[in-house]
Amino acid sequence: MGRSKFPQEGAARKEILRQLDEYQQADGDWKHGKTWSLVYDAGEEVTSLAQEAYLKYFHTNGLNPFVFQSLKRLETETLSMAADLFHGDEAVAGSLTSGGSESILMAVKTYRDEARARKPHITQPEAVVPVTAHAAFEKAAHYFGVKLLHAPVDDTFRADIAAVERLITPNTIFLAGSAPQYPHGVIDPIAALSDLALRHNLRLHVDACLGGFTLPFIKELGGAVPAFDFELPGVSSISADLHKYAFAAKGVSAVLYRDAALREHQYFAYGDWPGGLFISPSATGTRPGGAIASAWAALKFLGRKGYLELTRGVLDSTKKLLDGIRAIPELFLLGEPPAGIFAFGSHALNVHALADALEHRGWAIDQQVNPACLHFMVTPAHAGVEEAFLDHLRAAVEQVKAQPELFAQGSVALYGMKAQVPDPLIVNQFIKSAYSRFMTEGGQFSFEGLV
Ligand SMILES: *Cc1c(COP(=O)(O)O)cnc(C)c1O
Repeated sequence: MGRSKFPQEGAARKEILRQLDEYQQADGDWKHGKTWSLVYDAGEEVTSLAQEAYLKYFHTNGLNPFVFQSLKRLETETLSMAADLFHGDEAVAGSLTSGGSESILMAVKTYRDEARARKPHITQPEAVVPVTAHAAFEKAAHYFGVKLLHAPVDDTFRADIAAVERLITPNTIFLAGSAPQYPHGVIDPIAALSDLALRHNLRLHVDACLGGFTLPFIKELGGAVPAFDFELPGVSSISADLHKYAFAAKGVSAVLYRDAALREHQYFAYGDWPGGLFISPSATGTRPGGAIASAWAALKFLGRKGYLELTRGVLDSTKKLLDGIRAIPELFLLGEPPAGIFAFGSHALNVHALADALEHRGWAIDQQVNPACLHFMVTPAHAGVEEAFLDHLRAAVEQVKAQPELFAQGSVALYGMKAQVPDPLIVNQFIKSAYSRFMTEGGQFSFEGLV
């Protein structure tokens, strides 16, 4: 890939904007519902308001709430609206972060630091999470020196509670469950985890990054949503992404704790810095005010009624898609997902080949392993594309069955190679090298040389 030179002179505004449009031609077509992750767009009305709010706060910085009093107010109000939705009382306190990963990083750091203070005999802290918990827990454990133990899931893909309990040791500091989990969209047995946490005097984090701003509305619409939030006495923290089903701009998520004393363990302070008394609530320094303002604006604009309406639409699209998928004998759904998040697998064909066949038809498809399946998150942008997708899916199934050799290279080869290497450390190193090559040189993402 050619290296860009630092521009000697500025280009014209028009030319810069034209180039951006040109570059964007290469992106997934999320505006027409061709992507099934990454983008959550509730349509023109909500988006334009969130954008306007963002622009009003374009240059503002949440790092200093003494200077930006209004941002402090927007943050506090956004957090208390979320706490209210999650059955929190007056004591619930939290932070807005840059996203779900940072919210999870902060919860893990909080529990590590709380244990250092309150359980100093623990020198090697551990946590138990279901294998289906988001990779951000793994990242957080890696960053903060917490040992993560993975509990298996049952055949409905929900955490196996007996297995979780067996993994608890005297070094365990917290448990986690997801509502819903990312890979298959099902909700872990949070009530049972809450009981377990109370019985073993452990903290419990509920990852509602996906579900926080959709499950309460699905429940109100009569969906099968069990209690998952502060309603359960053992739940001590919740992460919920505003930039997913709350439809805010990218870069904003909430992490909420049962009380402010617990939240203090999240904060970082450094009083001896020549740069001044330093206090930072979360991992980043500068915190973009625009994302915070957009989250506040989206909640205010939509309210319970607006979210119910949008959720109803997502559930309608999901039902159409699931009915269509269930009618394809080669495919099966994993578990019984209650929201717009689901995955399907196949005993009749290689789903990695199916993913490539769908990609050839213009869809961006997310592939998963253990077990192999394809992953979908339905948003308001998918209203009206259900039949087009199902037509392509049926055609792709037939094509892969008839001519599997057409798809032997791409994803099938990549995942096949990965499956041949049992050592996860070797695979992880290969993923890093392949990604690095892709980021600097472009071309195909490949595991060349792995086997
Ligand atoms: C998206 C997601 C995360 C991570 O959030 P980011 O905003 O991508 O950092 C964590 N948990 C779940 C369940 C998610 O869906």
